[in-house]
Amino acid sequence: MNDLVINVSHILTNLGEEIKVKGEKDFPPILTTFRELKFTRPVMYEIKVRNVGNGLLVDGTFVAKIGLPCSRCLDHFSYTSQTSFEELFRLDGDNNFKVVNGMINVGPLAEQTIVMNMPVKTLCREDCRGLCPHCGANLNQEKGEHKHDQIPSRFSQLKDLLKGK
Ligand SMILES: [Zn+2]
Ligand SMILES: [Zn+2]
Repeated sequence: MNDLVINVSHILTNLGEEIKVKGEKDFPPILTTFRELKFTRPVMYEIKVRNVGNGLLVDGTFVAKIGLPCSRCLDHFSYTSQTSFEELFRLDGDNNFKVVNGMINVGPLAEQTIVMNMPVKTLCREDCRGLCPHCGANLNQEKGEHKHDQIPSRFSQLKDLLKGK
C-alpha cells in the first residue's frame, strides 16, 4: 500500500481554509487483476485540500509513468497516466477517506485513481503497426512495406475489407 500523508491539522478548525501541496513520490508496483503496473519514475502529484465544514474536500492530479507492454506490438514502453480526482475526507468517517490525528493519507486514493483510469489497451504510439500475423515481425521496425510471397486468400480478403475495397 502506498502512503502519501498530508498534514492538515492547521486547516481543521476554520471553514474555507485550504492548503496546496505538490511533489513526487515513489510508488511500489500495483498488481491489478490482469497486469502489473510498474512505475518507471516517481508519481508527481498536485493536491488541494479545503475545509468544507463536514470534512476536507481533496482534489488534484497525479501524473505517473508506467512501464507496460504495448497491446499491439508487445514492445515495452512507458505509458503516461494523467488522472484527476476529487474526494471528501470526513473528520469522523469510517472508510479509507478520513482524517486521522490531523493527517490524511492520499496514497490509496492515488492508487485507485490511477488503476481506474488505465485503458484496457495501451499502445506504444497511436499509429503502432503491430506484429505481422504471418511471421510475428514487429512492423514498426520494418523499413518499407513488409510482404510475404503467399498470403492466404482469407487474409487478403480481410486486408481488402480493412482498406475499404
Ligand atoms: Zn506498439
Ligand atoms: Zn511477416
